[in-house]
Parts: sequence; structure tokens; C-alpha cells
Amino acid sequence: MDEIRNKYIPHIVTIVNGMSGEEIKCCICGSRDVLALIEGKYYCYRCGSKVIRKKLYEQFIRMKQEGLVPKDIEIKPE
Ligand SMILES: [Zn+2]
Repeated sequence: MDEIRNKYIPHIVTIVNGMSGEEIKCCICGSRDVLALIEGKYYCYRCGSKVIRKKLYEQFIRMKQEGLVPKDIEIKPE
């Protein structure tokens, strides 16, 4: 299970918690309410959740292609 988790759930997300000093903004909307660092970019909750949803969807498609998810299971991108 660890092997599968490491392969399919990459550590793309770092929750930004109590960061001080450097001023950080969401790279999409410019909000200072930054919640997560995803692949080196900062995102607020709203923009970050969209990015994560897209990443998980792509991951799901890959798992399906490799036969790890039954063909009759469907997930829509939105
Ligand atoms: Zn944002």
C-alpha cells in the first residue's frame, strides 16, 4: 500500500501554516490569504482547491489507464 501511495499521491502540497516575514500571495488571484504551497507556487484556499482537484483527476485517469481503478467508475473533472 505504501508503494502505491508513494507512486500515486505525490507530496505536491505543503500547507502554509504560521509563515512569517516574507510576504506571500496567491499566484492566481493575488489574495494574501495563502493556504498552500503546491509545486513551488502559493495558492489561497479557493485557487488551491481547484488546482488540487485537477491534479487528483489527472492522477485518477492515470490509475485507470494502469488498471488500478475499475472501468465502470467515473469521476468528472468538476
Ligand atoms: Zn487565489
